[in-house]
Amino acid sequence: MKRPVFLITAGPTREAIDPVRYLSNHSSGKMGYELARAALKKGSVILISGPTSLTPPKGVIFIPVISALDMYKEVMKNYRKADVIIKVAAVADYRPVTVSKQKIKKTKNVLTIKLVKNPDILMELGHKKRKNQILVGFAAETNKPLDYAQKKLKQKKCDFVVVNDVSRKDIGFGSDQNQVVLLSRSGSKLSLGKQSKYALASKIISLVTVKS
Ligand code: C5P
Repeated sequence: MKRPVFLITAGPTREAIDPVRYLSNHSSGKMGYELARAALKKGSVILISGPTSLTPPKGVIFIPVISALDMYKEVMKNYRKADVIIKVAAVADYRPVTVSKQKIKKTKNVLTIKLVKNPDILMELGHKKRKNQILVGFAAETNKPLDYAQKKLKQKKCDFVVVNDVSRKDIGFGSDQNQVVLLSRSGSKLSLGKQSKYALASKIISLVTVKS
């Protein structure tokens, strides 16, 4: 089989509140960047990343983005080129309805910020993808991770979902190690024990590209 093209999204997104503030999450981008590094051994990589402190692996086509809407636009522009799409990014589910043009002043005791849902990029890809494109989602959960991940696999029409229990302090967000379960559309469930994010990334890349 020819060298596959990977499209990998990584990192958090930032949702602006005003010119100096934003809503975001604890994603470091490490898992996504390690997947990009591992994928480079097998094919070419387009890495679409939210803001992180990491240096993109040499050899990737790097597309930096800030917000979920930016990420949505870049993914939609690029996904047709990909044989394997891996959505590791921790995309913000909501963004402020309006972005204040000026810095919000400390006048009110209770300040309410209205949020609106961001597009679910993974869900849209699940519905748009070609039959031979492989779609991999990530599920970072703090409660009943496997149940939610099974639901996500079906709802978002993924071929694989990588399940991450982020309630554990020793793995996941910011850590250099991780431990996951890989669920497949065909019903298989594979536990990948605690190991470095790079070792895990290499295994995930091998397992999801078996058919490509
Ligand atoms: O449903 P949930 O947000 O937990 O799903 C996580 C998966 O969905 C991740 O693969 C993430 O990259 C993707 N996602 C997305 N667009 C969103 C939210 C999540 O692609 N707006």
